Amino acid sequence: MDNIYSYTRTMLEDYFKGIGEKSFKATQVFEWLYQKRVSNFNDMTNIKKDVIERLNNDFDTSFIKIVKRLEDKDTYKYLFELNDSNHIEAVVMKHNYGNSVCVSSQVGCNMGCAFCESGRLKKVRNLETYEMVEQILLIEKDLNIRLSSVVVMGIGEPFDNYDNLIKFLTIINDAKGLAIGARHITVSTSGLVPKILEFANFPLQINLAISLHAPYDELRNKLMPVNKAYNIDKLIDAIKTYYDKTNRRITIEYVMLKGVNDSEEDANKLVKLLKGLNVYVNLIPYNETNHIEFKATDQDKVLKFGKILQDNKITVTIRKRFGKDIQAACGQLRSKEVK
Ligand code: SAH
Ligand code: SF4
Repeated sequence: MDNIYSYTRTMLEDYFKGIGEKSFKATQVFEWLYQKRVSNFNDMTNIKKDVIERLNNDFDTSFIKIVKRLEDKDTYKYLFELNDSNHIEAVVMKHNYGNSVCVSSQVGCNMGCAFCESGRLKKVRNLETYEMVEQILLIEKDLNIRLSSVVVMGIGEPFDNYDNLIKFLTIINDAKGLAIGARHITVSTSGLVPKILEFANFPLQINLAISLHAPYDELRNKLMPVNKAYNIDKLIDAIKTYYDKTNRRITIEYVMLKGVNDSEEDANKLVKLLKGLNVYVNLIPYNETNHIEFKATDQDKVLKFGKILQDNKITVTIRKRFGKDIQAACGQLRSKEVK
């Protein structure tokens, strides 16, 4: 049985048409689910009894479960248990301009990046759309807040779960769904080129971030095996095509790894690579983990690296470090549970 939170409004309209009902019922159900936050069909009082019966027979409304919440100042980290007892995580950050959440897209990840906990544990399966949507619904209820921005940067490679990702984005952006503005949603990919090109045709104005992490192939091959399939040249071509089609600036993520990709020479190579492209660079402080040998670049060196980019007219931001004490990096909490 499908979970109702996996359905976009269009899918639900088709469902209603299929059972000989008017398609506007889909909007009514969406209002109950996402605005009034009622998940029990029996409580949807403007819907006829016989239709409610059909819905009860045709849809599952179960939720994933929060099994742990860690707090550190303005950061909350959640560990969720899925109905098949797999675990995933999400991280909430409270900013003065609103609250953002980082959601997971898969159980584990097959991309195998050398520095990443999620990759170390390998992919068990894709998340269903409802498992992504429910991370948001449960957190909003638990903290009694509204989340104003969403990043898909938790466990998993979202473009390796493309169809469910697209449904998720559609639901959370829908004005009758969670109504989160497309410009407040960001998807991060390790660089699956065919999907970047496909995403360029997706009509919503969602932000795309690409994890580059190295300015030349030899190093990127070592850090990110995906580079062997889609190397830096191919990635840069895809970035150009994406920009031409969408007019949307891509964010380049660059995690700062001590003695690995953080030298002045690396900064200069990065400048050469990105010069003339319409991109932002986001330098990410590495969250050290117990299992992996990589270390974080010292703060002064991160600033120096950033200054080289800036002096060469490349827009750069340095990500604030959140939740260091609560294993806020991608996959760290789950990895502690799973071992
Ligand atoms: N799979 C996607 C999205 C999830 S990872 C991707 O790779 O882009 C989100 C970001 O966190 C990526 O840029 C990833 O390289 C980075 N990351 C992974 N482990 C990290 C760690 N321990 N510290 C800091 N950033 C990390
Ligand atoms: Fe997967 Fe992203 Fe981690 Fe790489 S960094 S292993 S793509 S989650």
